[in-house]
Amino acid sequence: QAKTQGGRGLQYYTPALSTETTRRLSLENSLRYALDRGELELHYQPQVSLESGRVTGVEALLRWRHPHRGWISPAQFIPLAEENGLIVPIGEWVLNTACAQAKTWRTTEGLPLTIAVNLSARQFLQANFIAQIDQILGQCDLAATALKLEITESLLMQDLKRAITTLHALKERGLQLAIDDFGTGYSSLNYLKRFPLDQLKIDRAFIRDITREPDDAAIAQAIIALAHSLKLEVMAEGVESEAQVAFLRTKFCHAIQGYYVSRPLPPEQLAHWVRENRCLVQVPDNGASHTP
Ligand code: C2E
Ligand code: MG
Ligand code: MG
Ligand code: MG
Repeated sequence: QAKTQGGRGLQYYTPALSTETTRRLSLENSLRYALDRGELELHYQPQVSLESGRVTGVEALLRWRHPHRGWISPAQFIPLAEENGLIVPIGEWVLNTACAQAKTWRTTEGLPLTIAVNLSARQFLQANFIAQIDQILGQCDLAATALKLEITESLLMQDLKRAITTLHALKERGLQLAIDDFGTGYSSLNYLKRFPLDQLKIDRAFIRDITREPDDAAIAQAIIALAHSLKLEVMAEGVESEAQVAFLRTKFCHAIQGYYVSRPLPPEQLAHWVRENRCLVQVPDNGASHTP
């Protein structure tokens, strides 16, 4: 144990701590330039309706190709960007890029895909957020109904009054609104009826062991039932197996996203993939409808 060595122990640990701090600072510093240097990219993951078996939309997921470290996961750099405010310009770039891409798929490729974009709290709570959305949709000439915003419960809870106003302004414009990672945040079910929502996305933590763990199955089933009663669409995220799909189908889950369908793809592969996989999930021919 280093502690018993007195001062020497501290000397031993200090470099380790500062290495971590240095690493973090240098990551933060290179993130500052990542946008200008064109190191950020969006990949797109297909979303499939269990009702029709068709790809109805894609979720834009941020990727950072660091010049020395290779790919860095958004789980690593988004929290950093949220802390230092870089998420604001990065988030604006994401919205712009995703909307321009959706427009291209709709016009030149003839693929009427919905584009889902993740938002961070800092971005959503900006005073000019609605103006930014109007500006981007106008500039890309994209219908507001083609854009879906994914927000988390904890984001909404940060400033409830403002969240309600902003969500209504977005809904008035025709945007689709989804709660991401549903069931993991701290929140009150009471807000569900006060927010003009379209979709709940069941967090993949509940989906992972859905066919093995009765508790996870019960939670997923309860979220699906809740969505049905509130007339919301419900999508399962992180779906990796046929067995999970079968379970979700018996519970009348509307849609799925996950490696079972496809990993997130770079934009140049997505259109081709969608054309090759137009009808992905076999729809049962027993006439099962998605209303329980
Ligand atoms: P999320 O929005 O819940 O996105 C789903 C995450 O699950 C993605 O991780 C996706 O690659 C991963 N995933 C999808 N299907 C499967 C599956 O079948 N199995 C497993 N194990 N994982 C699957 P990713 O791309 O690393 O993104 C992590 C999180 O970073 C996202 O979670 C989202 O919260 C955040 N994020 C990503 N892009 C953006 C962005 O542009 N803006 C903001 N604010 N956050 C973003
Ligand atoms: Mg998401
Ligand atoms: Mg999620
Ligand atoms: Mg997540």
